[in-house]
Amino acid sequence: MSTSTPQKFEFQAEIKQLLDIVIHSLYTEKEIFIRELVSNASDALEKLRHTQLTEKHIADEKLELEVNVTTDDKAKTITIQDSGIGMTRAELIENLGTIAHSGSKQFLKSLGEGGAKNANLIGQFGVGFYSAFMVAKRVRVYSRSWRPDEPAHVWTSDGSGSYEIEEVADQTRGSKIVIELKDDCSDYATDFKVKAILERYSAFVSFPINLNAKRVNTIQALWLRSKHEIKEEEYTEFYKFIGHAFDEPRLRLHFSADAPLAINALLFVPKDNTEKFGFARSEPSVALYCRKVMIDARPKDLLPEWLRFLKGVVDSEDLPLNISRETMQDRSLVEKLNKVITKRFLKFLEEEAKQRPDAYHEFYAEFGLYLKEGAAMDFTHKDQLTKLLRFESSLTEKGKTTSLADYVSRLGADQKEIYYLVGPNRAAIESGPYLEGFKARNLEVLFCYEAVDEYVMNHVREFDGKKLTAADHADVKLKDIPQPEGALSEADAKTLTKWLKETLGERVAEVKVSDRLVDSPALALNADKFMSPHMRRMMKAMNKDGADSPLRVNLEINLRAAVMKRLFETHTAAPDRAKLVAEQILDNALISAGLLDDATPMVARLYKLLESV
Ligand code: ADP
Ligand code: MG
Repeated sequence: MSTSTPQKFEFQAEIKQLLDIVIHSLYTEKEIFIRELVSNASDALEKLRHTQLTEKHIADEKLELEVNVTTDDKAKTITIQDSGIGMTRAELIENLGTIAHSGSKQFLKSLGEGGAKNANLIGQFGVGFYSAFMVAKRVRVYSRSWRPDEPAHVWTSDGSGSYEIEEVADQTRGSKIVIELKDDCSDYATDFKVKAILERYSAFVSFPINLNAKRVNTIQALWLRSKHEIKEEEYTEFYKFIGHAFDEPRLRLHFSADAPLAINALLFVPKDNTEKFGFARSEPSVALYCRKVMIDARPKDLLPEWLRFLKGVVDSEDLPLNISRETMQDRSLVEKLNKVITKRFLKFLEEEAKQRPDAYHEFYAEFGLYLKEGAAMDFTHKDQLTKLLRFESSLTEKGKTTSLADYVSRLGADQKEIYYLVGPNRAAIESGPYLEGFKARNLEVLFCYEAVDEYVMNHVREFDGKKLTAADHADVKLKDIPQPEGALSEADAKTLTKWLKETLGERVAEVKVSDRLVDSPALALNADKFMSPHMRRMMKAMNKDGADSPLRVNLEINLRAAVMKRLFETHTAAPDRAKLVAEQILDNALISAGLLDDATPMVARLYKLLESV
């Protein structure tokens, strides 16, 4: 029942331009109009709350502060109603007819000359109130200001250039936006569809949101609350909700920052690494919010790739303020967020490692692979990440690990290298021939069990000025230790190595006396600088070129080993048998190095040797 005749107004030129883009854009996720209208309702409620602090007389003082969404699938309408601050007639004209106060101004600015082809910006930052026209035949805004003496009005438009305002009666404080849906958008009048959209974008709005009289948002925006007042169960419930998770979080980082950007973040490390189980590669799962309203559930560049296992929320108030063509293009805003959050998370892990080493150890066992990936690939964070790596070593117990920093702290003054060995497990490395020379000289060697370790070590290259060096590399030179009694003489050694080289022929590049063998009779070092034994194995497994190039190794022998002394005696006395023994020694060394490609000839040879026993 109107108390005055309707009055017609033209939209301001910019609004016409905006409406034209909105109505004709082919933007597919039209659903964001619900997010925009609910955000406006929530803003209006927030403003009312502030007004209540200073004003004595407020219309409909007792009204609950809430947002009510109702759908009518017969009439094909959706209605969003709030008990917020409301608008007077002048405010309706000012706020909905001109661009002066609207966040849409930023949108228009960011469109620049790009025009309608930037329609995807609609989704990212909304176009505020006007996004309703993506789905609406007609929009009606009933509004009554908080000022007790102001009458209520209805603002009506079909989005084509003009709107009307008319006074109405029987309207309580706040605004009610009734949208008559276009025929192809009528599913926004169905309860289940709207429920999903509200849960997706508006789950953390501070005021109650009811859909067809049922409360939708029951979980709080924990990231904006003070850590000290949040209970453990609340965190867990929140994690399960935003992460669509069933486990309990393993680690949690809740922090805020003011500079260079206002950030509130709540990040979780899940219990398990799902990629480990062979599930698909994780998608980024830290959502981007602006003042409790979701902007992007899976922002691509918010965090570096290797942090894709994190779940949670990053909220920055600075987001809408900073939208401009420039920032959209070079993404500098998201980059800034990325920098701050990554740095903070790395610092957090460093603290965890120090203060709760056992928990860190468990975390590392599950997620260490991602840190290795980062250390090898993310140049910006390499140093911080390298500090976080952990390895078993020849000095740790089985199952215990050391950091590179601790390794370096144990180094002798003149040691310039950090040694490591790659192998399938501790037992394999410890029983192989490569470790003993290092053990005899008290040199610590890191043990690397994972397929990527060699790649990581090659990319990290050094730590604290010490080069990371494979202990089975032919170039490694170890300082002399006094030769114990009972070894072959230097002259005999010369004869033996020469004979071995002649006997083994093309299979060896070089035969020499070892400086690193203590107990084992011999070891093989890959003569190929560019392909380690491990790499060769991987290439073979992948059937890659290069894996089949003829293998040539350096054979190193131990002059104290009984088998060598015996070989020296037999190489002249029984040359045929000695040849078989020499070949077998080489094969044994190749087995330890993981380089024996084909064991068949070895079996035949062994039978021959057994015959002569
Ligand atoms: P923004 O929210 O970014 O300011 P919008 O286009 O969404 O831009 O809204 C324009 C203006 O209209 C708002 O700033 C506000 O003043 C007014 N407005 C919109 N919806 C409501 C509402 N439900 N209650 C009161 N005022 C509103
Ligand atoms: Mg808005």
